[in-house]
Order: sequence, then structure tokens, then C-alpha cells
Amino acid sequence: MAGLLEAKTALVLGVANRWSLAYAIAQAFRREGARLALTYQGERQKATVEELGAELGAELVLGCDVTQESELEGLAAALKEALPQLDCVVHSIAFANREDLSRPFVETSRSGYLLAQEVSSYSLVAVARTVAPLMRQGGSILTLTYLGATRVVPNYNVMGVAKAALEAAVRYLASDLGPSNIRVNAISAGPVKTASARGVKDFIKVLDAVAERAPLRRNTDPAEVADTAVFLASDLGRGVTGNIIFVDAGFQVMGL
Ligand code: NAD
Repeated sequence: MAGLLEAKTALVLGVANRWSLAYAIAQAFRREGARLALTYQGERQKATVEELGAELGAELVLGCDVTQESELEGLAAALKEALPQLDCVVHSIAFANREDLSRPFVETSRSGYLLAQEVSSYSLVAVARTVAPLMRQGGSILTLTYLGATRVVPNYNVMGVAKAALEAAVRYLASDLGPSNIRVNAISAGPVKTASARGVKDFIKVLDAVAERAPLRRNTDPAEVADTAVFLASDLGRGVTGNIIFVDAGFQVMGL
């Protein structure tokens, strides 16, 4: 059987290392035959992401801090040159100050709140605006969210509020871009031990609670998130837009 993403080109933003959900997604996209472009946040990640990009056969590996309009413009220019037809875009980016993920939410500072919103929510809007003109045959934009958007998860705090905004942005973007046949969806992943997740105080307790109470009685494997990303990016997902799809071993259905 041909790969599900054969003849498609994908841009994946948010690979920091081998544990990143974006890396699992890039691996699955490659397995399914996609041509790949990766971005990294800054010089500190450059060597690692270039190495991972080489392993994956990525055709473009570029720095892009999503808070910098000029770097988004640079990304668009580089893509136009190297991979002018884009079909799939994965936004796997979030950030909040560590202190805002460890103290009561009511103590969140104005600057910490705005930072989390800018990096974790507004950036999807900025990325969508940047890539949409390159998705001339339509395609799929995908972001990553978490249950803390709609339920209180201890210490997730300001990131939960940012994810709520992100999920609303998914719906508004789906409405704006649907006429261009660009679909916009989010995967709500169960907790996975990554660099970002480790910033949330007592994250291990969340993993333990999920393994004990989720219908499947285990945590989420990044490969499961990646396979759902393949579905959404492929033609199999052609009727799905504006959705939040849970890949969390079923945890979100439980009341207690
Ligand atoms: P990660 O730390 O591997 O990835 C986060 C990425 O965001 C990094 O690559 C980082 O460089 C990037 N980033 C942060 N600020 C940026 C900026 N200004 N410009 C460009 N990139 C920037 O962790 P992850 O867990 O793979 O996170 C990926 C996404 O998945 C995030 O949106 C996260 O909230 C979401 N998510 C994670 C979990 C989990 O438990 N790990 C669960 C649900 C959703």
C-alpha cells in the first residue's frame, strides 16, 4: 500500500529533541511518504534539530521563533523557494514560565499570562496566516492541546487558559480557511514525559492518575498521537475540521 502522505509536503514546527511530540509526528509523516520541513526555536536547538532532520531526510531545517514576525516571514520565503506547495502543517509549540506552572493560578502575573498566550495560542494564528498562501491545493493544519483547556488540572494553570484560547482559535481558523479547503484541527494528547511537560509541577502525579483511571489503564504513547496526526493530515481526514480529537487512552470521559 502506498504511504498515506505520498506526494504531500509537511512543515513541522516544534521539534526540540527526540522526546518532542513533533518528532514522533515527523517520523510518522516520513514513514507515510511525506516530504518534510522542520523548524527549531533558536540557536540552542539548531544542532540537535539539524541532526534529527538529517535522519528523517528533511529537505529544509530552519530556525523560527514564532514570536518574531520577521522569522515567520523568513520561513515563508524559504518554503516558497524550497517547497512551494505545502499540504500539511503541524504546530506543536507552547511555553509558560515555570513559576506559573507551580503556584496558585490566581497569582499568575500579567506578563506570564500574556507570554503563555502569545507563544502557545496566538502563534497558531500567526503560523496559519503565514502558511495558508502556500497551501494552494488546500490541506491540513494541526495543533496540540491538552485537557487542561476545559478541566482544572493541578499546576497546569496559565497553560490551561492558553490551550482554551488555542482551541477557540482552531474553530475560528477552520471557519476562515475552510473555503480554501484548508482544515484546522487539534489533537488533545494525554500527558507524555517531554521537556515542556516536565515544567509542570508534580507532572509525574498526572501520569500516575491517568495510568490508574483511564479506560485503557495506561498512558499515551507519542506514536499514537503521531498516527492520529497522519490521519488528520491525509485524505482520510478530508471531512474533519474545527475539531479537537482526544488521544489520551480515554481519560477525558471519566468523571472520577
Ligand atoms: P517539547 O518541549 O518537546 O515541545 C515544545 C516545543 O515548543 C519546543 O520545540 C520548543 O522549542 C517550542 N517553542 C517554545 N517557544 C517557542 C517559540 N517562541 N518559537 C518557536 N518554538 C517554540 O514538548 P511537547 O510536549 O512535545 O510539546 C508540544 C506540544 O504538545 C505543546 O503544544 C504542548 O502543550 C502539547 N501537549 C503536550 C502534552 C504532554 O504531556 N507532553 C500533552 C498535550 C499537549
